[in-house]
Amino acid sequence: MQKITRAIRIQTPRTAEMEHSTPLFLTSSFCFDGAEEMRAAFADETDDNIYSRFSNPSVQEFTDKMVALEGAEAGYATASGMSSIFASIMALLKQGDHLLSCDAIFGSTHTVITKYLPKYGIDASYIPAGASEAEWEQAIRPNTRMIYLESPTNPGLDILDIGMIARVAKRHGVLLNVDNCFATPVVQTPLELGADLVVHSATKWLDGQGRVLGGVIVGRKELIKEIYAFARSTGPALSPFNAWVLSKSLETLDVRMERHASNALFLAQSLEQHPAIASLKYPFLKSHPKYDIALKQMKNGGGIVCFELKGGSESGRRFLDALQLLSLTANLGDTRSIASHPASTTHAKLSENERLAVGITPGLIRISAGLEAKEDILADIVQALEQSAL
Ligand SMILES: *Cc1c(COP(=O)(O)O)cnc(C)c1O
Repeated sequence: MQKITRAIRIQTPRTAEMEHSTPLFLTSSFCFDGAEEMRAAFADETDDNIYSRFSNPSVQEFTDKMVALEGAEAGYATASGMSSIFASIMALLKQGDHLLSCDAIFGSTHTVITKYLPKYGIDASYIPAGASEAEWEQAIRPNTRMIYLESPTNPGLDILDIGMIARVAKRHGVLLNVDNCFATPVVQTPLELGADLVVHSATKWLDGQGRVLGGVIVGRKELIKEIYAFARSTGPALSPFNAWVLSKSLETLDVRMERHASNALFLAQSLEQHPAIASLKYPFLKSHPKYDIALKQMKNGGGIVCFELKGGSESGRRFLDALQLLSLTANLGDTRSIASHPASTTHAKLSENERLAVGITPGLIRISAGLEAKEDILADIVQALEQSAL
């Protein structure tokens, strides 16, 4: 059966009520018929649910759909993207290990790597998104245990060659952990390119309607087992309510991503030559420096477009103030188009040099293409560009 069919048809077993849409198991704990059943569940002799920090049918349904979409063996869902990322690192690395990460990563992931990992004696170093195979090889140390990357990167839309980096990781017996938030599994499947783990912020495209936070980690069974053991005791469990919302969202992920991507491509093509724009990036434009790799590993270019305003930071402020339809909000991957100015918001905690090193210039604008009529999104951006250039 095709993955998108499984993402629609996987469901917790029908209850005696014979419901069609999936029920919501909003319960903290589960009952047992007797002392013996309860003992056996705690002894791991049965798969019975015990407590929703460990497992819950609504959470399991969302997880099973993500496992199917990513082509994984197993998964574990958590309360946010950051708790998934944190659990995937803390469960598998120990004091003295080294984490090699691409430098263009989500702001809070950067904080975890630079501020918290050193407190636990875990070394980390960065490598530029554009590094060659030889440079990745050289960056591996004897104690490197994990490589971490995002592709496309947030917000610079750099594309990393996941298959090439997976080959380097395999040669050195290092785990490859990929944040697949920007592409989603209907656009790109890192495990099939050789990655060992995939982490997600389900808050973005997976929900797709800006309602709930969530995260999920998928990969090989033995790795997920360790992550589950860590999470079961430390408590980043996903709320069953959020899981129920997210599970329903996955049934429309494929059609939504197709439209997000075609709207984004239309915006990118229409705006590339605009006089107020110094440069524009979209993975499926020929002008993208890694266009060939994007075509090789992605089904479409995704829903994000970035451009640099000629007037820098001041133009960025004027552009945001002039928008009438697009939302100014700290999220992406919504039915509603969103504009943001990373230098003054999501990446404001980085120094100017750190921002420039990962491609965040003062006038960088990130557009998350929604599902509105493409002409309406374009018209709002064009009128705001005209005002920002005044
Ligand atoms: C938003 C985001 C995260 C963090 O996810 P939360 O659900 O906000 O915790 C991680 N990685 C990327 C690429 C993101 O965009």
